[in-house]
Amino acid sequence: MEEILQVKNVSKRYGDLPVFENINLTVNKGEVVVIVGPSGCGKSTFLRCLNALEEIQEGEIILDGNPVRTEGSDLVKLRERIGMVFQSYDLFPHMTVLENIMLAPVKVKKRSKKEVEKEAMELLERVGLLEKKDYYPRQLSGGQKQRVAIVRALIMHPEILLLDEITAALDPEMVREVLDVVLALAREGRTMLIVTHEMQFARAVADRMIFLEGGNIVEEGTAEEFFEKPKTERLKKFLQTFSYER
Ligand code: ADP
Ligand code: MG
Repeated sequence: MEEILQVKNVSKRYGDLPVFENINLTVNKGEVVVIVGPSGCGKSTFLRCLNALEEIQEGEIILDGNPVRTEGSDLVKLRERIGMVFQSYDLFPHMTVLENIMLAPVKVKKRSKKEVEKEAMELLERVGLLEKKDYYPRQLSGGQKQRVAIVRALIMHPEILLLDEITAALDPEMVREVLDVVLALAREGRTMLIVTHEMQFARAVADRMIFLEGGNIVEEGTAEEFFEKPKTERLKKFLQTFSYER
């Protein structure tokens, strides 16, 4: 298996507040890693450190053999290689779906408009939104906007995709349509790090599960190990908060 991302002894603090300490993680090409943990445990911060939206205080993050740095001109390149989708879609309201998707590849990557448009349409077709290409964001549902946000990330051809609670703000009936797109990406062999509270989805999509709490990776394992045979009391307790058995 080929390693694509290495997180080595990484510590992150906001001022005096430690978020995590000495985290180690290696992600292989094509692997889907799902990170879960209580609110405030640092899941978003962790993803943001990976594509240098946040500085780290100690350790090293290595992408395909090269250290990730938060300063310098490599940042734009880095963000092309590590795509990110957030809970809030952040589409430009005054641009159509197609214009939103085409903006970065044309302006940043200087690709030809024609070629980018063709790819944008293919990607929109794949997420079931081709007929919405000329709509504005306000004319779309939350689930549709989030699928556009995924296409906008994909068109940059990222080597890794980071998804941070991308269904957390959606009505329940729209969660599925977004998660189905992510499942399809996983089956295509995309490398992804996913933060989610959708445990059934996590189980279906994850090659590896990680439980983050109190600044540490408390437990990790295959989806089956993780959900069927949690080793630590802390993970057992956390998983219980998602079940309603009496
Ligand atoms: P999660 O995504 O797991 O809910 P976050 O990564 O958002 O957690 O936050 C981890 C901790 O860092 C929390 O205590 C949060 O309050 C704090 N934090 C997050 N962002 C900042 C920031 N920009 N400045 C200071 N503290 C922050
Ligand atoms: Mg978060």
